[in-house]
Amino acid sequence: MIDEAEIMKVLADVPDPEIPAVSVLDLGIVRGVENGKVIITPTYSGCPATLFIEQSIREALDAAGFRSVSIETRLAPAWTTDWISDAGKTKLAAYGIAPPDLAKQAPCPQCGSTDTEEISRFGSTPCKAQWRCKDCLEPFDRFKCH
Ligand SMILES: [Zn+2]
Repeated sequence: MIDEAEIMKVLADVPDPEIPAVSVLDLGIVRGVENGKVIITPTYSGCPATLFIEQSIREALDAAGFRSVSIETRLAPAWTTDWISDAGKTKLAAYGIAPPDLAKQAPCPQCGSTDTEEISRFGSTPCKAQWRCKDCLEPFDRFKCH
């Protein structure tokens, strides 16, 4: 018998390899458990973290005794920032990463100012863009929105 609630509990402790402050559940990468399989959707195709995420999930499942549970990667529908949970957004903000928003202007995670600008499409990882606050001059990472 596969205990889905137990599996979700295990996955809630699997950190995102790029932003350890949030779990793969917070980010909405784990879609759920279906027919004994964990369904995951990578945040960005071509994101180098994708393989690590699958590996981390595999290791966590094995460690918890769910060796028979397989992982299925599903690319459609594509992951969107809407899948990040409210808890995930709060954690991202606390970590100094502006939570993605449909509003174009990213608020500064340091001072909350919306007088910000994108410096580079490429931040510390391919999934993030580099932004800077014009008020406190602090640079910060922002998830690229689809
Ligand atoms: Zn600021």
